[in-house]
Amino acid sequence: MLNFHLTPEQLKIQEQAREFALKEVLPVAWYYDEKDEIPREIINKAFQAGFVGADIPKKYGGRGLGLIESAIITEEIAAACSGLATSIFDSSLGMEPLLLSENEDAKQKYLNQIAKDNKLAAFATSEPTMGSDVAGIRCQAAQDGEDYILNGTKYWITNGGIADYLSVFATVDPKSRHKGICAFFIETAWPGVTAGRHIPKMGQRCSNTVGIHFKDVRVPKENVIALPGEGFVLAMKTFARTRPIIGSFGVGAARAALEYSLDYVKKRQAFGAPIVNFQAIQFKLAEMFQKIETSRLLTLKAAWDSDQGLDNTVSASTAKMYASEAALEVVNEALQIFGGYGYTKMFPIEKILRDVRLLRIYEGTSEIQRLILSDHLMKKYTPSLPKLEDLALHREHDPLDAQTPPNTGKTWRCRICGYVHYGDSPPSACPYCFFPDKAFKEVTF
Ligand SMILES: Cc1cc2nc3c(=O)[nH]c(=O)nc-3n(C[C@H](O)[C@H](O)[C@H](O)COP(=O)(O)OP(=O)(O)OC[C@H]3O[C@@H](n4cnc5c(N)ncnc54)[C@H](O)[C@@H]3O)c2cc1C
Repeated sequence: MLNFHLTPEQLKIQEQAREFALKEVLPVAWYYDEKDEIPREIINKAFQAGFVGADIPKKYGGRGLGLIESAIITEEIAAACSGLATSIFDSSLGMEPLLLSENEDAKQKYLNQIAKDNKLAAFATSEPTMGSDVAGIRCQAAQDGEDYILNGTKYWITNGGIADYLSVFATVDPKSRHKGICAFFIETAWPGVTAGRHIPKMGQRCSNTVGIHFKDVRVPKENVIALPGEGFVLAMKTFARTRPIIGSFGVGAARAALEYSLDYVKKRQAFGAPIVNFQAIQFKLAEMFQKIETSRLLTLKAAWDSDQGLDNTVSASTAKMYASEAALEVVNEALQIFGGYGYTKMFPIEKILRDVRLLRIYEGTSEIQRLILSDHLMKKYTPSLPKLEDLALHREHDPLDAQTPPNTGKTWRCRICGYVHYGDSPPSACPYCFFPDKAFKEVTF
């Protein structure tokens, strides 16, 4: 069953995405970066090519592609420009809470419009004073009959200045943290919704990032996608679907840096030879390749878990954390290989480095991924090996050889220093660490 091959359909999607990336995205990547402009035309072209909201199920008018296919498409477009890839794929993040919700009427209404009319959705949890601590949301949702009235500000909202819809996470009571969080799918044209100025950034400059202010915005009950107490879980489920895609951003960007490096090392001469002849350079390339391969495997595994309907929280965090950090390391090493030219705007690496720096921050920082993974290890991970105190570490006899049994049937292990003692009872004190017999445990393994 384990199979690392892409299907013929997936290979076809990869080929189409690569062609689109090379023809439509790569040529304009530096222009949009320099101008800090919204690449609306490219988003439109990506929509026409079937790459925006490709994961919307067929019953809502979409292509019904899985997360694996989305990861394949994302890698190709991110290899050309991860900023443009963010602009193109942000609508998937924006619509995901609606897709995961049980509000069937809203799904029918809005997902069809996203799939067919090129409407864009954006995702809004973060606020000017809160990002990682989603339970600390302050944006207020006051109940008014069955409607809600929204007041507050969201910040860092990708595509917020051009989106038609927003998945907004708010709270009925900031003090109750997780228990107060609810979510709405709203229209940006509604009275009281205002987008702020485009926030100037270090990288991914073409992707539009703004604050959004809500002033007495009435949200009808038809647009509720998570009731108070359900919003936090919905946000986390959304991230489990979208974090593998951030992994693909890393894979694509890092692969671009590797491929540009492979070209450069054959042309650049030093000490009378092309620098590719130096083993130090070859080893850098080898390590870059190894990190990209590992990132892609982790990313596709997390996407596959999700497509299988499994809880992919852990694999999504692992992929996001590894691939975003590996991408930064790979691109940084590429810049080193390019020497001084790598540091200039005449070559592509400096932009890729600025762009990938974001991957460790948005959709949950690297630190938050470490929290998720360590929490999993502390609370849920089931080891297959025995506990240390149950491990005999036999060295003096072969426990499987019935002909040479130990002097006694019993084995004791000091829980402090690990000394193994054979006998009917433990020694009165450990001969190594001097702890008394209470420190010994009979080993049965
Ligand atoms: C370009 C860009 C686009 C974005 N797009 C969106 C979007 O579309 N929608 C949206 O809702 N948000 C978006 N974000 C926001 C992004 O998700 C947040 O910036 C991110 O979650 C971190 O939150 P913060 O910036 O408030 O940092 P903080 O939460 O203030 O964290 C600051 C630092 O402290 C660390 N930290 C925080 N808590 C802990 C802890 N418990 N243990 C260890 N370390 C901790 C963090 O890892 C970080 O290093 C975007 C951000 C950027 C920069």
